[in-house]
Amino acid sequence: GIFGKGKTCNSAAAPDKTPAECNLVLLGVMGCGKSALTVKFLTKRFISEYDPHLEDIYSSEEKVDQQPVTVRVMDTCDQEGPVNSERYLSWASAFLVVYSIDNMESFKGCQLYLQTLALHNKTFNPQTPIILLGNKLDMDRYRQVTPCDGELLASRFGCLFFEVSACLDFLSVQHVFYEAVRRARHG
Ligand code: GDP
Ligand code: MG
Repeated sequence: GIFGKGKTCNSAAAPDKTPAECNLVLLGVMGCGKSALTVKFLTKRFISEYDPHLEDIYSSEEKVDQQPVTVRVMDTCDQEGPVNSERYLSWASAFLVVYSIDNMESFKGCQLYLQTLALHNKTFNPQTPIILLGNKLDMDRYRQVTPCDGELLASRFGCLFFEVSACLDFLSVQHVFYEAVRRARHG
């Protein structure tokens, strides 16, 4: 990747000099809201139409628990599940695996990603933290995936689990991204 590889989320390595860095990767089937979540985190705004074929890396200077950190977000777009995963596997400090709570197919799609990541974590040290993230919480009326489904899958893969909405409050979305940074920091 253009930023090189390595777990750079280690603020203890060089105190007060270079700011810590954290590379977050959003994964999940098309349409689950990865780009909307990325834009929300970066701008506090909900952008309802976002180029579905655009994959990019964005950077933002954040302060998590009073410590400055450069957060880079890779907003992926896969047409058919986890292919060419080398582009993010060793780059990532943490993964956010996203589905849409109103779409069971997107939830099933997460399992392939989680399996790929679990396999990677088996051979890679230290472990890269994973967050399972149910998006579109505002679509609760059309829910197809229960919170219990999410928690069960997350516990099978040892991930944290959250439900959010890219079009509701910013702080809930920020909280999830910050949790990813915290996990990456503390291993
Ligand atoms: P991506 O393919 O995973 O990047 O998905 P997008 O971010 O492009 O979102 C796909 C569609 O879902 C778009 O029409 C978004 O407006 C919509 N969307 C994304 N997040 C939410 C959400 O939290 N709630 C609702 N209701 N729609 C969302
Ligand atoms: Mg997208």
